Amino acid sequence: MAGNRTFTMIKPDAYGAGNSGAILKMIEEAGFAIKAMKLTKLTAEKAGAFYAVHKERPFYNDLVNYMSSGPIIAAILEKDNAVEDFRKLIGATNPADAAEGTIRKIFATSIEANAVHGSDSDENAEIEGSFYFSQFERV
Ligand code: ATP
Ligand code: MG
Repeated sequence: MAGNRTFTMIKPDAYGAGNSGAILKMIEEAGFAIKAMKLTKLTAEKAGAFYAVHKERPFYNDLVNYMSSGPIIAAILEKDNAVEDFRKLIGATNPADAAEGTIRKIFATSIEANAVHGSDSDENAEIEGSFYFSQFERV
C-alpha cells in the first residue's frame, strides 16, 4: 500500500524569486497537509550528500552548486498516495515537458532550476525527511 507522506524542497530559484508562498498555496490546495517545515541553506557538502544518488551524473557538480546557492524551504507533506500525487502536482523534471498547471510548468526556469523537489518513493521520502527533521520536529 502506498504511504501517506512525502518530502519536498522549494529550491533556491523559487525561494529567491519570491514564489514560496504561491507554491505552498498550490500544495495546500491540492490537499497536502504540512507536517514539518523549515527555512535553511544547504552547504555544498550537505547538498552533495542529499543528492548523492546522482554523483556519477554529468550535472552533479552544477546541481550541488545550485542547491547550495541560496535558501531553501524543506517540508514533510501528508496526503493519501502522497509520493505519486505530489510528483503529478510538480510535473516533469524539465519544465519544457511539464504538464500545464503543474508547479514546475508555472515556476521552473530550467531543467536544473526547477522550483521544487519531490521524493520518488516512500522509502526515499522517509530518508529525505530524516535528513532535515528529527521525530520531534514533525507533527
Ligand atoms: P528532484 O529529485 O529534485 O525532485 P527529479 O526527481 O524530477 O527532481 P532527478 O533525476 O532526481 O529529477 O534529478 C535531480 C535534480 O537534478 C533535478 O530536479 C534537477 O534540478 C537536476 N537535473 C536533473 N537532470 C538534469 C540535467 N540533465 N541537467 C541539469 N540538471 C539536472
Ligand atoms: Mg529525484
